[in-house]
Amino acid sequence: MALVRPPLSPAVTEFLARRGRGSGLLIDGQWSGEGGESFATLDPALGEEIGVLPRGGAAEIDAAVDAARRALAGWKATTPLNRAKILWAAADLIEAHIDELAEIETLDQGKPLFVGRWAEIPGAINQFRFFAGQAMAIEGQVIESSIDYQPAGRKMATWTKREPVGVVGAIVPWNSPLVLTAMKLAPALAAGCTIVLKPAENTSLSALRLGELLMQAGVPAGVLNIVTGLGGEAGAALAAHPKVDKIAFTGSTQTGRAIIDAAKGNLKRVSLELGGKSPMIVMPDADLELAIPGVANAIFFNGGQVCVAGSRLYVHAAIRDELLEGVAKYARGLTAGHGLDPATQMGPLVSRLQAERVESFVAGAKAAGASVLTGGERFGDAGTFVQPTVVADVTPDMAIVREEVFGPVLVAQSFDDADAVIAAANDSDYGLAASVWTQSLSHAHRMADALEAGTVWINCHLMYDAALPIGGIKQSGHGRDSGRAALDNYLEWKTVCAVV
Ligand code: NAD
Repeated sequence: MALVRPPLSPAVTEFLARRGRGSGLLIDGQWSGEGGESFATLDPALGEEIGVLPRGGAAEIDAAVDAARRALAGWKATTPLNRAKILWAAADLIEAHIDELAEIETLDQGKPLFVGRWAEIPGAINQFRFFAGQAMAIEGQVIESSIDYQPAGRKMATWTKREPVGVVGAIVPWNSPLVLTAMKLAPALAAGCTIVLKPAENTSLSALRLGELLMQAGVPAGVLNIVTGLGGEAGAALAAHPKVDKIAFTGSTQTGRAIIDAAKGNLKRVSLELGGKSPMIVMPDADLELAIPGVANAIFFNGGQVCVAGSRLYVHAAIRDELLEGVAKYARGLTAGHGLDPATQMGPLVSRLQAERVESFVAGAKAAGASVLTGGERFGDAGTFVQPTVVADVTPDMAIVREEVFGPVLVAQSFDDADAVIAAANDSDYGLAASVWTQSLSHAHRMADALEAGTVWINCHLMYDAALPIGGIKQSGHGRDSGRAALDNYLEWKTVCAVV
């Protein structure tokens, strides 16, 4: 497959000349890093270098954390209205640069342009707008006191207030870099926290452009700092740093465990948005006109590199063949190509390593007796494309059923009994999301209650809204991004008790 990358826009060419030559550290309002240790970032479709980024380590994290700590008192003291204005201005700037940001994201991550342009970057804008409003809605409570202490006839007054948790270390993954970064930055800034951001090493570019836009929106020096680098170096130094009050992490369950270990030195707060193996249950009464494209999109969107991807399908035996044929046909109809080509519906995976990992899950399942209904092959100049794949005849103990593949691989099983399928769907270490496809209100309600997941979708999947909390139970993490619930990650309670 010979791929050609369409020419880059002048805005992206200028951005790469400005930030893609090593000056990608944002510390205390200044960009630096040129001439220091660096690493390359690649166009995953072609395997070609597109930029060089600073390889930040403990020293850069130290400097960034110091800057964030110095900026904390001033940012905490700004009025909610001023923080709201800055967040709203940030949203406007992101919107004004939406085409440029979508192009950067595709170039760096591989995703088809439409994914960034119409789903993820609008999602990032919505985060900034939603939390602009929330900045002005942070509230404590006045609580009638039951304390009997009444010296000299005085009385007790008691109330609570919310305060920013302090310096936040935000660590994000590579699958949807800009929107996942926005999910951390917007609520943290709204709450009055200062931040050190460590983007994923494969996909740091959009975070750097976002950093420029946030400075332009009025985020003061030191309030947002960005250190690019590797997970085991910059990421580990941030997670362990004694002057960081909280880590807001999105990434794999395995790294989530390392973050908890690293955070114990100063008992910093940790919120974790981790992996998933989300089940989709298709009941015999499902509307297949909705369910076939819905199920297919739930696993093939963004090449399956979505934490909440519908990767385990449970379809009722009565409609199994029709549904699977429909999903396989959808998969075969997807046009693969360079993400910047507007005709592309399916881009590469983020790296050759990730594509090899996905391929090895399919090979392992085949060796264990599973059958591949469509796809299963890796292809492309850089070996980073994987065909959209449907695997059937699996058993519940297979790795492809239990582990997060994080690629375009649907694992299909069929069922006859509604209670048994709930037990099968819940038989997972993960609990991030699930979907149910049915026209029965009764099935929908019962399954929404019974499924062990942070989000349950009915007759849809992958529906995000900045106002709706998203996150997991079990080993999919704790804490929530999005919605008012996300502010809790970044706020402490203070109780005030006064004799008046
Ligand atoms: P990853 O855990 O390998 O890396 C995530 C981030 O952590 C990167 O920035 C990385 O550099 C950093 N990191 C790695 N090792 C570290 C360490 N020891 N200390 C500190 N930081 C470290 O994850 P990934 O492969 O980049 O992303 C894919 C994973 O993210 C999948 O498991 C996916 O499900 C998950 N994810 C979850 C959500 C959610 O909302 N639940 C959203 C998107 C992605």
